[in-house]
Order: sequence, then C-alpha cells, then structure tokens
Amino acid sequence: MSGRRFKRILLKLSGEAAMGDQSFGIDPATVARVAGEVKAAKDAGFELCLVIGGGNIFRGMAGAAKGMDRTAADYMGMLATVMNALAMQDALEQLGVETRVQSALVMNQVCEPVILRRAKRHLEKGRVVIFAAGVGAPYFTTDSGAALRAAEMKCDALFKGTSVDGVYNADPKKDANAVRYDQVGFDRVLADNLKVMDAAAVAVCRENNIPIVVFNIREEGNLARVLAGEGVSTMVG
Ligand code: UDP
Repeated sequence: MSGRRFKRILLKLSGEAAMGDQSFGIDPATVARVAGEVKAAKDAGFELCLVIGGGNIFRGMAGAAKGMDRTAADYMGMLATVMNALAMQDALEQLGVETRVQSALVMNQVCEPVILRRAKRHLEKGRVVIFAAGVGAPYFTTDSGAALRAAEMKCDALFKGTSVDGVYNADPKKDANAVRYDQVGFDRVLADNLKVMDAAAVAVCRENNIPIVVFNIREEGNLARVLAGEGVSTMVG
C-alpha cells in the first residue's frame, strides 16, 4: 500500500479535519498541525494538491433539511470550503510553504479561479495548490471535486484523510465485527455501497484509474506514515 511510487497526489481532507476536538468550525491549532504534515510531505518530494471539505461549517443537505432551498444551501457549503482553504493557506504560509488557492467559484479578491495550466505551473514551482468550492455546482460534494481535480491534474493517487482508519465491510461505529480492508476494488465499493467517498467520486476515480487511499488524518504523523507505505489505511483501486 505504499505511497512511495506516487509523485503527485491529491490530498482530500474532510472539513472535520480542521475542527479538532471542537464540534464546529476551524481550530487553528489543528489546522497548523495538519499543515505541518502537509509541509513534511512536500519536503519528502511529493507534489501536493489539496481539497478541503466544508462540513465543519456548513453542509447543503443540513440546510435543506431545515427548509432551505438546496441550491442556496449548497452554495453556502461551497463558500465554507473556501474559508477552510484560506485557513489552510495561512497555516502553510506561516510554515514557509508557498501555496495558491484556486476556487471553482470566482472571487478575484480572495483567490485565483481554477486554471489548470496555472495550477500545474504552481506545482512545478514547488507550491501547494488548494482547490476550493468543489466542482463549483450544487448537488455535488467536495469528494467529487477531489476526484475531478485529481483526474484533471493527472495525480497518481487520491489520499482521503478522514476520521476512520480505512474502509470497512460495515460501519465500525455500529458493528463491532466490522473488518477493515487493506485493499478493495472499485467495483466492490460501488456494489456494496461502502463508505469511501460518494459514488460519483468513486466512479471518476475508477474511470481514470486513480487509486484512493483512505486513512485517519486525526492521528498525528499519519500522513507521513501512509505516504511511506507504513500506516494503517485502505487502498481502493
Ligand atoms: N458543495 C457543493 N458542490 C461541490 C462541493 C461542495 O454544493 O462541488 C457543498 C455541499 O453543500 C456540501 C458542502 O459544500 O455539503 C461542503 O462540502 P462537503 O460536504 O463535501 O464537505 P466535507 O464532508 O468533506 O467536510
């Protein structure tokens, strides 16, 4: 399950990764810790694209469940991802890592729009590129945004940092007998509806042969371990 054979990776972090022990929002100390791990990965020679979710601030589905128009709620969710991207940019730059944020929703005063050739140039110059606002359309998720950017940027793999240590055959929080896969195929993930990323995102990765590595980002030092092929994770591919 080694990340060693990968050079360019897309790291997808759920918004919760920015939350720490809080139940909502951005915890600067947690973002700084994750930024340190991203810096270490960059220093180890990986080219890094980042996508950060927005669930720690707002999810469109939650707004819709309370009566909001889904489209309006989803745009709020996309804006939440921009806030997380700016927090990560700030934390990385405080560590001396050059970054650029590119948003799928244009907001010139805040960040660049998504321009792939420019994004590739940033990587060549050793910058970390943070893609914000998902695919820029409602009814999607940042998982889909991550899969799309991984394909467009020709990433070798998509690393999904989440709060579980891989993909299980059942929900480990509900079923004590749930077993974690070391490796599982795209087809099994889709057929069994396994909790990896949403089906649209998995389908994009399958079609473009991009393996997905699911690991726990809440555990300190885990990104380096997984990239070195040492950590606990599940590889989907
Ligand atoms: N979102 C969207 N289109 C996208 C990406 C995100 O509408 O392409 C909205 C959607 O409402 C979603 C929210 O942004 O719930 C936050 O993203 P997500 O739920 O994927 O964040 P995560 O679960 O990774 O923290």
